[in-house]
Amino acid sequence: MKKVLILEDEVNIRSFVVINLERAGYYPIEAGTGAEALQRIRENPDIGVAILDVMLPDIDGFEVCRSIRANNKRMGIIMLTARTQEMDKVTGLMTGADDYVTKPFSPAELTARIDALYRRIGGDDLASSELLTQGPFVMNTRNHTLEKAGNRIRLTQVEYAILKLFMQNPGRALSREDILSAVWGREYEGELKIVDVNIRRLRIKIEDDTANPTYITTVWGYGYKWGA
Ligand code: CA
Repeated sequence: MKKVLILEDEVNIRSFVVINLERAGYYPIEAGTGAEALQRIRENPDIGVAILDVMLPDIDGFEVCRSIRANNKRMGIIMLTARTQEMDKVTGLMTGADDYVTKPFSPAELTARIDALYRRIGGDDLASSELLTQGPFVMNTRNHTLEKAGNRIRLTQVEYAILKLFMQNPGRALSREDILSAVWGREYEGELKIVDVNIRRLRIKIEDDTANPTYITTVWGYGYKWGA
C-alpha cells in the first residue's frame, strides 16, 4: 500500500487530489491543517510522499515541510504553490522539499511527480512502464489519461484503446483488422468502418491539422500508422 499524504485546507482541491490518487493506485491520507498533517505522519510512518499546500489556516506548508524533514529525510515532499506566489520566494523556501506543483495543476502532472518520487525512494519499480511518452504525447496507462504538450485530452475508452495500441507500435502499419481485433476483441462481428469512424474522431482530438494528419497517417488500402 503506497500511502500519500495530502495536506490542503480547501476541501474541493483536496477531494479532487484524493480521487485522482485513488485512481492512480495510491492510498491517500487527508489533512486540512498543518497540525493535523504532522499527527497523521506520526500515525503513519510509512507515508512515502507528502503533498503540502503552502497557504494554510495554522502554520504554513513550508513550516510543515521543515518539521517533517527534522525527523524524516526519506519522505518525498511536493509543495503545492499558487501562481501568485513569487517564485524566488518559493524556491528560497523550498529547502527540504523535493518538488513543487503550481495550481491549477492537472491530475496527470501531479501523479507523474508522485510516481517519480516513489521511484526515487525505491517504493515502486513498475511506475516507469506506466508512462508512454512520444513526441508531445504522454499516456498514463495506469489512470488511462492522455496529455498533449501538457494539456489533458479527454478520450472515450475505445479511442484510448486505439491510441494505446498505436503508441505501443510506433511506426508500424496496423491493418483495420488488427485494430478491430485488438480493441473490440476477436469475437466482434461489426464492420471495419467502426475503426475509421473512431480514427476520424481521434484525429479531431489529437492532430494539429485534421485535414493533414501527421500523427495518425493513412496507409492506403490497408490501415493506419502512428508516428509522433
Ligand atoms: Ca490553501
